[in-house]
Amino acid sequence: MATSKSILGEQRQIERAINLIEMGARLQVLESETELSYERLLKLYKEVAGKSPSKGQLPFSTDWFLTWQPNIHSSLFHNIYTWLVKSSALEGIDALIKAYQLYTEQIEACGLEAQLSITRAWRLVRFVENKMLQTTPCSKCGGHFVTEAYENPRHFVCGLCEPPARAGKGAAAGGIQLQ
Ligand SMILES: [Zn+2]
Repeated sequence: MATSKSILGEQRQIERAINLIEMGARLQVLESETELSYERLLKLYKEVAGKSPSKGQLPFSTDWFLTWQPNIHSSLFHNIYTWLVKSSALEGIDALIKAYQLYTEQIEACGLEAQLSITRAWRLVRFVENKMLQTTPCSKCGGHFVTEAYENPRHFVCGLCEPPARAGKGAAAGGIQLQ
């Protein structure tokens, strides 16, 4: 029984890895989220993506998530992720994969392009877990947005309620609502 269980477990890991590769995840995400060996992941990546994984560092800075449009996308994704973790049996990487699917569906339904990559979505969840970022309710609309840690909710106003001067409000939101 132990053997069949571990084969099933491995099958599950391979499915997860394939899902992530198809979504464009970097190899580092796969290494972190599955127990498959680097060699197997590399082989799988080449098979599924039809190319070698890109080398180089992952984005390590929290800044990107706080710039205006990426912040709206990041917040939308994180709302979906939080909702899934609370309301479904999904957890960890499975919740992240499902949340990312729902995020891209919602963005495409608005006629927009996804700005948040699966790798960034994964980093975002890590940043929030490590308290390097948090979500804060907007004092005007009540939507939850990704902010710096220790943002004061009494004074916080989100990028949809107060878009930067250069952006038109309608175009800015692009139909996205986080209430
Ligand atoms: Zn707001």
